[in-house]
Amino acid sequence: MTTFKQIFKYIGILLGLTVVAMILITFINRPKSLKSKPVLKELSSAERAELERTALQHLGEATTYRIVGYEDANNDSINHTTLLSFHNWLKKTYPLMAAQAKWEVINQHSLLITLQGNSKLPAALFLGHMDVVPAPDSSQWKHGPFDGKINKDTLWGRGALDDKNVVIGLMEAAERTLAKKLPLNRTLIFAFGHDEETGGKEGAAAIAKHLMSQKIPIAFIADEGFGVMKGIVPGLKNDCAIIGLSEKGFVSIKLRVEQLGGHSAWPNPENATAILSKGLNKLENYQFPAHLEPPVRGLFEQAAPYMNVGYRMLFSNLWITAPLVKMVLKGGEKTAATIRTTHVTTILKAGSKENVVPPYAEAIVNLRLFPGDRIADVLKQVETVLDDNRIKASIYSESKEATPVSASEGVGYDQIKAAIHANFEETVVVPGLVITGTDCKNYSQVTDRMYRFVPFEFSSANLSSIHGINEYMTLKQFANGVVFYMDLFQRL
Ligand SMILES: [Zn+2]
Repeated sequence: MTTFKQIFKYIGILLGLTVVAMILITFINRPKSLKSKPVLKELSSAERAELERTALQHLGEATTYRIVGYEDANNDSINHTTLLSFHNWLKKTYPLMAAQAKWEVINQHSLLITLQGNSKLPAALFLGHMDVVPAPDSSQWKHGPFDGKINKDTLWGRGALDDKNVVIGLMEAAERTLAKKLPLNRTLIFAFGHDEETGGKEGAAAIAKHLMSQKIPIAFIADEGFGVMKGIVPGLKNDCAIIGLSEKGFVSIKLRVEQLGGHSAWPNPENATAILSKGLNKLENYQFPAHLEPPVRGLFEQAAPYMNVGYRMLFSNLWITAPLVKMVLKGGEKTAATIRTTHVTTILKAGSKENVVPPYAEAIVNLRLFPGDRIADVLKQVETVLDDNRIKASIYSESKEATPVSASEGVGYDQIKAAIHANFEETVVVPGLVITGTDCKNYSQVTDRMYRFVPFEFSSANLSSIHGINEYMTLKQFANGVVFYMDLFQRL
């Protein structure tokens, strides 16, 4: 009896100590200042007015260049002409950049623009892409997706948020930097790919190869990714700027079963479709393990001090609350995708005639890999889950490992973070994981410091318009982004 009593006593003490520790940690984890002084001298009201008058107009014009990603961008003659006229338009619109920067066309269509800095420091490489996804449901748009229409300070157009905003935002900022004769310490390189939406093999990959063959040292890369998110993180009153430190990998696995076919009037229950569907069923019921690790762990830890007290306690104490947090995150498909490798069957093939048992059945399972989950390991895991050697699993198409997780401090990250604090009031800056793809995946050999962040405020309406209908950008949203880039250039 005494032993039981003693055990309960110790458990009670332990629980009490845990709660005290959690409260203490929550209390110590106080918010820090979210302010940083702008390095860029504030624009005069005339300069700001000129910026607001022209920048969005330029973005509007840029969206009228219909550079739509197809599987084989280089063989597309319409894209070819449009891309070259877009290059010319850029030069005409940004005359100081045309005169003072070095312009190179890579692999016929991509652009590499180098603006020399005063120091010998490795360059800062800014990525953007000129192509967009198609807009098949254009009749549902408020204004035509390629009309470049600005209505009451809002531009409607495909590419307004992905990714002509980045290309034009950078060019606007660089042109104004030159116009104001602001000093540039570090060399700035702008790499604008032409096929990001179809993988970047012709554009980004060729640029990366070129940079390496020329042995051009790169300090860090800034690319598209998250922005300044408004009201998107639960429990957080502040806006939240997420800097993507890594992006998930991509692999499709082909599952194939071959069995004797025959007449459907006397079927063998162990036919190809039956074996495959049993396997797929096992796979559907399986989930890859969830990880609350960098960079996602950092997001919660660093946002915690600014959250309401319940969330603050939860996320300040991941040492003990991690299993609970994982359980909650696994509940939503988007949040689940940020903490684990996901898989889904996207293609099924079998049979060609209704009264013939098909001799083979095939499925393609698409997986998005969490950093650290390697292609070879997930393939092995899929085989283990299937546990049926009649189902042959193989890699279906070109695949990519998740990119390494970049450091959440040091050159690149620190300056982007400081520029966010200086230009977006009371915004919490946290690291994150990008669950879709960006051009960065083609630059892993160029530098291990890759930061995915765009300086534009995103509402949830903005977010759902990306790759959807009614993509838009407001005048203020865009002008603030241009000022951010100008300020960032001064910090490098
Ligand atoms: Zn994009």
